[in-house]
Parts: sequence; C-alpha cells; structure tokens
Amino acid sequence: MKKLAIIGCTGSIGSQTLDIVRANKSEYNVVALSCGTNDAALVSLAKEFNVNLLGIHDKSKCGAVKRALPGASVVCGDAALTEIAACDADIIVVAVVGMIGLKAVVSALKNKKIIALANKESLVAGGAIVNKLLSKGGEIRPVDSEHSAVWQALMGEKAFKRIILTASGGPFWGKDIALDAVTPEQAVAHPNWKMGKKISVDSATMMNKGLEIIEARWLFNTTAIDYVIHPESVVHSMVEFDDGSIKAQASYADMRLPIQYALSYPLHAKRSYKPLRLPLSLNFFNPDTARFPAPELAKKAMQEGGDAAVVLNAANEAAVRLFLENKIKFTDIISRVKTALDEHTLGKADDIDTVFDTHNRVYEKIYSM
Ligand code: MG
Repeated sequence: MKKLAIIGCTGSIGSQTLDIVRANKSEYNVVALSCGTNDAALVSLAKEFNVNLLGIHDKSKCGAVKRALPGASVVCGDAALTEIAACDADIIVVAVVGMIGLKAVVSALKNKKIIALANKESLVAGGAIVNKLLSKGGEIRPVDSEHSAVWQALMGEKAFKRIILTASGGPFWGKDIALDAVTPEQAVAHPNWKMGKKISVDSATMMNKGLEIIEARWLFNTTAIDYVIHPESVVHSMVEFDDGSIKAQASYADMRLPIQYALSYPLHAKRSYKPLRLPLSLNFFNPDTARFPAPELAKKAMQEGGDAAVVLNAANEAAVRLFLENKIKFTDIISRVKTALDEHTLGKADDIDTVFDTHNRVYEKIYSM
C-alpha cells in the first residue's frame, strides 16, 4: 500500500489523482491533503478518504476546517505546502498551480521524498534550486503528459540527441480567427484536454509549450529541445537518438495515465482506461512561430539562463490574469511577457528568496501596467 499526500487536491490534477485512488483503494492510501481556499471540498475529501492531516493555504479558512474536523491536524498558510510536503507519505503529489508549488517541492526534496510533479512553475522558475537539491536526494517523477512521455522514452537509454515535445496547438492553431479579438471564454475551451483556466489560456497562447520546454531543460538536463504541432494529442512527446531513430509514447489524451504512471512506476499498472487502438491517422506540423511566438520567447529565456525564466513566468502569470479579467487583449499577453524580458537586467535565480522577490516584483509591475 503506497501512502500518498496530495497538495492541490481540489484542482484538476488533484481531483484526477483522487479518482485513481477511488478506483484502486487496495493500492493507495491518502495520508495528507491540502488545497488553496476551498475548505468545503477539503473537508468533504478528508471525510471520504479518512485523512487526518490537512492543509489549507488560505488562513481565513483554517478555523472552518478545524471546526469541521475536530480530530484532525490542520495546518494553514505556507505550512499547507511545506509541512504536507514533508509528511510521512511515500509519494508527494504536487498539483498546485503557480509559483507557490516551489515551496512544496523544496520542502519535499529537503526531506528526500519522491515527488509526482504536476506543477510547472517550480521547475520553470526554480529549476536550478530544485536540481541542486535533487543531487542530494529525493526524486521527481513528471506528471505533465509531455514530460512523462520523454521520461518513458528515455528509460534504458544512456544518451540522446534531442527532445521533441508535441503540442496540440490549442484552440486557435490552424483556425482563421483574429487573435486580438479572442475572449477568455474562447481561450479556455481546449479541444483535447480538460484543464484549469490558467493552463488553458497558456495552451491557447502556446506559452504552455514554452514553459514545458524550460521544464524539460531541468528534468532532462539538455537545451536540445524542439516542439512540433500534433493536433490529435495522441503522441505525447518524442526523443531522437544519434542514429536518427525516434522513440515516442502514445495514448489517448487522459491525464490519469501520466498521473497513474508517476504513482505506479516502474510498473505500467493494469488499468481500465480506453486503450489506444489502430488504425489511427496522426498529423505533425511545423509550428507557426509568427502567430504564436511564446515558445520562442521561452527558448530565449532558457538560453539566457539566470532569472530570465522567472521573469517570463511571472509576467505571463500576471498577463493571463489581466486577460481573464477582461483588462487586456489576448495578443497583449505575450507582448507583455516580451516587454518584461526586454526591460529586465539578467540576475541570479539560485536561492528561493531571490526567486520569489523577482517573481513578485515582475508580477506586480506587469499587473499594474
Ligand atoms: Mg502538458
């Protein structure tokens, strides 16, 4: 029986992780749960899974959780990330969205834990910090479907030439739509994947692929990373080797598969997800970098190193929020990120306080522009 802690248990990845537990109760035992603000959902999940260690980031909701679960230990504020990440679980699922995920990852690694990582920002902004901690112990198993695919393709391999991430292209790729008139409702309607709002907008601008390129840089220790448009989202990514051969991982688009694999590794556990069936027609296209410049911006930030990716990520987070609040146009999101990078003087990103300072400074600047 594997003991799981789930940080971000009420979001999209957290909920799907709990679906896996529900279907496999003899294999997984949830020992800790934490979330951002949804106290009612947290309490209901704690009762359903009989969990006694709970965290809620929003301190104003702490009392309500304690009153509803008098026998449980309840931690609040950043402890909902750091203490839950250090608890007595075999695997810490880090499924929160945003920079705060880095606090959970750092705490888990300091305690030499296995992390099933679905949070992108911790690697995008904190990759150098995370890799330094990883050299001393702990383990990261990627949950993002692309990185899970690369992880699987690299098993048993000693060297490779390059990583090729696949991208669905989002809801606007190949469509004759004026991007500057796109509404938040249109941007969050992803054709293949059901995801949270922030990541859906990132998918529509293709900044999601940009962030994933930087994630891959830290997970697989290379900057040889390209991407290709694959509208069917069946091949989740590929690795090319020196002899010209390519290994790919394929399955229908269902996040439960990469989540499940991070939990059951090294086994592809027997499950009843829809199996991939042939024949199948798959397409791969070159990216349209003029219409969707975000991945190129991210590549540039990756190559600059230092805190460039912190700036890219913070500016993007602030600009996506502005767009979702109907304050800027869809096309302004990436222009704001570019402005932030152009105006930034390169600094360091090798300790957590500096990374958060830079993130907060850039976020506030872009949000108030
Ligand atoms: Mg992905």
